[in-house]
Amino acid sequence: MKALLIVDVQNDFCPGGALAVPAGDQIVPVINNMLPQFDLVIASKDWHPSQTAHFDQWPVHCVQDSAGAAFHPDLNHQAIDQILYKGTGKQDDGYSAFEATNLDLAEFLKQKNVEDLTVVGLATDYCVKASALDAVKQGLKTCVRKDAVRAVNIQPDDGRQALEAMKQAGVEIF
Ligand SMILES: [Zn+2]
Repeated sequence: MKALLIVDVQNDFCPGGALAVPAGDQIVPVINNMLPQFDLVIASKDWHPSQTAHFDQWPVHCVQDSAGAAFHPDLNHQAIDQILYKGTGKQDDGYSAFEATNLDLAEFLKQKNVEDLTVVGLATDYCVKASALDAVKQGLKTCVRKDAVRAVNIQPDDGRQALEAMKQAGVEIF
């Protein structure tokens, strides 16, 4: 089974959002075109309470049930089989989709006999990276598609370094 993990393609991470990733919305059509290649499509949502230690480090974003926490309107969300919610606690950054609190992702993938996981979404240097590194730790053949991720780049090289760190850990980047 080949699965796609779409990380945090939410309004607040797209241009105009509270924590916009530059050109974050450009990956949406790329992801939509990829969907038919996968047996199973999973999407994570950053899903924070209105008060959380996470907002000491970041502007307020992706508050549960807010418009900013909704998927980008052009994402073909009808193709999504399972939604994961992460960062739901008051002390919980939830960078990795494997830290989702509504579902044990590692166990779910095992039950579905998923061996190949492709990770796309936002942002390369935080949640995509954390999710891909956790996928490798779970023994999954893990791939990140460069054309379907974008970086925050607080430092201009963060995205490139994140891809390099993932590659070093055994993630296939193409
Ligand atoms: Zn967050």
